[in-house]
Amino acid sequence: MTVQTLQKPRIVLPELKDKVAVVTGAASGIGRATAVALAQQGMKVCLVDLKNERREQVKQQLADMKAEVMTADVDVSDPNRVHQAFDAAAKQWGRIDAVFANAGINGVLSPIEDMKPEDWDHTLFVNLKGTFLCVKHAIPHMKQNGGSIIITSSINGSRVFSNFGMSAYSTSKAGQVAFAKMAALELARYKIRVNVICPGSIKTNISENTHPTPELDKIKIPVKYPEGSQPLEHAPGQPEQVADLVAFLASDAASHITGTELFIDGAESLI
Ligand code: NAD
Repeated sequence: MTVQTLQKPRIVLPELKDKVAVVTGAASGIGRATAVALAQQGMKVCLVDLKNERREQVKQQLADMKAEVMTADVDVSDPNRVHQAFDAAAKQWGRIDAVFANAGINGVLSPIEDMKPEDWDHTLFVNLKGTFLCVKHAIPHMKQNGGSIIITSSINGSRVFSNFGMSAYSTSKAGQVAFAKMAALELARYKIRVNVICPGSIKTNISENTHPTPELDKIKIPVKYPEGSQPLEHAPGQPEQVADLVAFLASDAASHITGTELFIDGAESLI
């Protein structure tokens, strides 16, 4: 099923109107679709990404929808830049109600014995430290009014450990699940909900940030199902399907949901 960006949202969540969201990895894929979905609900959206040209295209797309939008040129693994981005969004709009900590990379895919420590670090820095930094710097701006934080992990961080070469990625994604649960517990006192989503294969540009090493061929095993095969669709999911889940989690419709891992994978993780 192809799910396209519609002029009107598929689900209507009126309480999101005029609230403020920060979306990381907003220039592409799941982040981009989510920025559009939240803007369709009337949210003001801060687009965080290091891909400037694409980020500006998304900004234009939201501006064309008459949404209030700002951008931040940020590497999420850089503490100062993340701090500045959250402060800037809060200064612009007076509050932050929802954070989608979604920026991520597959990084270098390598057998463990050949993995360079700096490649391991890079994946962990972007995916895991980046998530920590976004949550840390969101808290001062959310603790007065409460809100919702959604973190993008993966089925590879929770249920699926069969993709060879992905030790750093899977470790970072598993870390995000543990971190989300700890954050949910700690931040409940501020009425900040924290949930983590685990997508299966989704059709995005993530292969641009995927770097298999030649050594990977040494350990590859034949896969039972072709990549992207999902029992429900027999095809990868669409970013817009993930965006609807994020909008729901951002809204009051999910007011009693926190500390939860939600799979959005068409049952891919069950095969
Ligand atoms: P994508 O490559 O289309 O989008 C990711 C965005 O993150 C890009 O715009 C990129 O520039 C940005 N980004 C990367 N590193 C960054 C950094 N250091 N600082 C700021 N921005 C950075 O990929 P996507 O599939 O939309 O990925 C979004 C999230 O979904 C990632 O966390 C990924 O691990 C997760 N995920 C994706 C899939 C999939 O099949 N596509 C499956 C499970 C989980």
